[in-house]
Amino acid sequence: MKRSAAAPGRAVIYARVSSDRAGGRSVEEQVSECRTECERQAWPVADVLVDNDVSASRYATKARPEYARLQALLQPGDVLVMWEASRAQRDLKRYVELRDLCARRGVRWSYSGRLYDLSDGDDRFSTGLDALLAEKEAEQTRTRILRAHRANLADGKPHGRVPYGYRIIRDPETGKPVRREPHPGQAPLIAEAARRVLAGQSFASVVRWISERDDSLRWDAAKLRRLLINPTLAGFRVHTEVKDGVRGPRVIHRRGTWEPILSEDHHNDLVALFAARQSGPRGVPVKYLVSGIAECGVCGEKVWRGRGGTKKDGSRYEVYTCRPGRHAARRLDRVDEAVHTVVEEILISPTAVNALAETPPVDNAAATRLNELRRQLEAVETEIAEGRMPASTGGRVATRLEASIATAEVEATQIFVDPTVRRLATAPDPVAIWRDMPLLDQREFIKAVLHIRIERIGRGRWHDKRAGIVITPHRPQLEHPGTRGTTG
Ligand SMILES: [Zn+2]
Repeated sequence: MKRSAAAPGRAVIYARVSSDRAGGRSVEEQVSECRTECERQAWPVADVLVDNDVSASRYATKARPEYARLQALLQPGDVLVMWEASRAQRDLKRYVELRDLCARRGVRWSYSGRLYDLSDGDDRFSTGLDALLAEKEAEQTRTRILRAHRANLADGKPHGRVPYGYRIIRDPETGKPVRREPHPGQAPLIAEAARRVLAGQSFASVVRWISERDDSLRWDAAKLRRLLINPTLAGFRVHTEVKDGVRGPRVIHRRGTWEPILSEDHHNDLVALFAARQSGPRGVPVKYLVSGIAECGVCGEKVWRGRGGTKKDGSRYEVYTCRPGRHAARRLDRVDEAVHTVVEEILISPTAVNALAETPPVDNAAATRLNELRRQLEAVETEIAEGRMPASTGGRVATRLEASIATAEVEATQIFVDPTVRRLATAPDPVAIWRDMPLLDQREFIKAVLHIRIERIGRGRWHDKRAGIVITPHRPQLEHPGTRGTTG
């Protein structure tokens, strides 16, 4: 503390209110106390600057217009009056700027009832120490608020949502959530549903299986799918973090405090599996190799089994054809044979098998969208944490963003390895495995690897048996002489 011999010319009062209010005073109280100090010291008050409802810490994003005005306003001989040091700055860089400004202009600084001369070494040390402490306090405040906020999210607050499979244990006295734990009835059902899906059972049968065991929910494919790929079930909380000196948020999968229901591997496999089935999970059980998979070359609709021309014995041929149009029809046995031939040609080619095991390129557009959504969620969490957005509103926005993020994660997933494809691509004798595979698995492989089109062909008396059957691999690395059908 230092008293200057010469009385300062005039006083400029600066007050600021932050949303954290940690031991803080209202702006009115701050200004009133500063005025009292000015009266006591007989400093005429030249100006009162107030920044309202903003944070001075380096995490704050809003500008403080009045603080900026200080730089234009302060004149030699002035004294800058504040209620406490942290009203001015909560990070050292801003402190140094203010200190240098005051020293350069010959402006002294008064806070907490003390007057400092910033050209004086002792006073520089004292004010510097106060700035250091204010910065530490700001860090602790932010950490504390964010931690509380994240803990709330983890408990299902403020969204008030607990995912299926978990229950919230509450403190019997206060009723406040204490922790999240696997629901003894629901968790085993989810674990078993995941196991069945990964074992290749038809998704519709798994949906039926779980709805027979728990009718508290109206189960459907979309609901079960969303649940099975929710990172919460694998014990993960996905969030973003802003680091000093690093532009943009960093995306982090962090272990939650709750016990996982699914292993991390199973979670990743499920995400990959559903991502590989963009057209949706498996529907009703099927008896034919490519019904609902191959397309009509005329209208683009999927083809299904139908009846074709009459054989010599009076029975009719089975064909694949689109349902409403019957634009093109090809004999079912010939299409199946052609598909089997192409698959086996792919499986005996080491280059093709290697390509199958490879990870395809990332969808950059989806990844960009995912990052943008995560950035938005981070911004919302910060708004809530710093009190600028009501928790109820923020919770709703965050819930919506999290739902979009879950969808975008599936779209952006980098690993596209259907379990069936992986099994074949890594087997020592893939052709033998293929021939022994259940029809449903063969269909999964075909869906993941091939595009099959049935073209209309002229009504001649005779066609090459592969005429009108066009089989193209989804990935060009699998392109192979045998994959080119003829269009007759
Ligand atoms: Zn058609």
